Amino acid sequence: MNLQDKFCPSCAAALETKEVFGHERPVCPDCARVIFYDPKVAVICIVPRDGKVLMIRRATDQGYGLWGLPGGYVDRGEVVEMAAAREVWEETGLRVEPEELIGLFSVGGDPVMVVVYDAQETGGELEAGPEALEVGFFDIEDLPELAFPRDQDVLTKWQASKDQKG
Ligand SMILES: [Zn+2]
Repeated sequence: MNLQDKFCPSCAAALETKEVFGHERPVCPDCARVIFYDPKVAVICIVPRDGKVLMIRRATDQGYGLWGLPGGYVDRGEVVEMAAAREVWEETGLRVEPEELIGLFSVGGDPVMVVVYDAQETGGELEAGPEALEVGFFDIEDLPELAFPRDQDVLTKWQASKDQKG
């Protein structure tokens, strides 16, 4: 629990937890303010090259040592496409241009929703950034061990959208 979850932002009274609108939420016993948690937005890019897709081997806590599509959190106020390009550049050294929106992925109980773009390489040099142990391109029929099963669904949807266009 963060400090901001312990005290009311309006009157600084200690918050209590109560069920409000179907969920347990922090509530102020003094001024009745209810704290609603916003979802977080992440963005990932599918960057194809020669029939394969760009993946990173994660150097961060969640899924350390396992592989995932490049991406990360969108900063508050940041243009989503710019966040997508920034994350790919930070993690892989490649410059990309996000193009087609593949979809918005969310699951019940998970605070993070994930925006997925198909992106084209525009430059840069492939090199693992500080949040990656390795970077590389993989055949989607022969992926390395994934940190998040979601990436498989994302790639399946991406492949289907490519097949539709022929
Ligand atoms: Zn209060």
